[in-house]
Amino acid sequence: MKIVDIISAGVPALSFEVFPPKTESAYDSVKTATEEIAKLHPSFMSVTYGAGGGTSKYTLDIAKNIKEQYNVPSLAHLTCVSSTKETVHQRIADIKAAGITNVMALRGDIPKELEGTDRSGWDYRYAIDLVRELKEANPDFCIGGACYPEIHPESADQKEDIRRLKEKVDAGVDFLTTQMFFDNNLLYNFLYKIREAGITVPVIPGIMPITNAKQVERAISLSGSFMPQRFKSLVDRFGNDPAAMKQAGIAYATDQIIDLYANGIINVHVYSMNKPDVAQKIQSNLSDIIKK
Ligand code: FAD
Repeated sequence: MKIVDIISAGVPALSFEVFPPKTESAYDSVKTATEEIAKLHPSFMSVTYGAGGGTSKYTLDIAKNIKEQYNVPSLAHLTCVSSTKETVHQRIADIKAAGITNVMALRGDIPKELEGTDRSGWDYRYAIDLVRELKEANPDFCIGGACYPEIHPESADQKEDIRRLKEKVDAGVDFLTTQMFFDNNLLYNFLYKIREAGITVPVIPGIMPITNAKQVERAISLSGSFMPQRFKSLVDRFGNDPAAMKQAGIAYATDQIIDLYANGIINVHVYSMNKPDVAQKIQSNLSDIIKK
């Protein structure tokens, strides 16, 4: 099932993100964790793509397993930066062969060792290049793109960020998923601005449940997300008590999600990070809202 069709059903829904193993030896435990999450029957599950592409086979194996064994629609991520046309064409052929129709088209982060080098000759410099390739390879692909309520760190300002986003959507993106954020007002403000700029595709907010204090630093360094005082107080108070921090982080994410549904959002995507217990708790906190 295509993700745009899930959204057009118009009923509150919850989806989860998982990531592939980095090594063969971790494959079985990651597969089990993703299956536990699939058993919750979320509206769909996304499987990320490891930086550099070394684990691309696992992304597809897990996305295929979720879809075929658990009947949960899957979304396979794909990045293109620093890849050759040949590699990307092979990956797209693999996605088609796996029977996957939902693809998240991403640029990927610039590898540290290539930062500051001349990239003008690269086959793929931006996600838009991948979006065009995917549409050409299969017009029936349902293509997702990333967006940033607090702007992408490389963008000069929000106007420029939204201008580039519109170009990417116009090239063939069917829906957008947001970077994590901890203050819903940032999302509402962003939605207002992108709608004003003529971007009309569905936007799926991405919510990261922070379940341990270490994750906070990582979240800030990865996304530069703004931490509201209410959230900081919670980390200050419970950060040294793992069980309490987990409970408080799940409650905070649940609260954010309820507010999003109350304000008309249809599908919320949870960065569940291969943690079935976290996914299960959030889902059960919302059981009467999402009817699960
Ligand atoms: P782009 O859309 O290409 O944008 C990157 C920057 O370039 C922006 O500042 C944009 O404004 C600018 N830009 C775009 N087009 C042009 C142009 N023509 N000229 C000049 N500037 C331009 N990373 C992974 O490695 N694997 C994953 O699975 C993964 N999943 C993600 C899922 C989500 C929902 C999000 C939000 C991010 C994910 N990432 C993932 C991280 C992502 O790869 C990085 O944030 C990356 O830095 C940007 O990717 P993008 O697709 O948004 O890039």
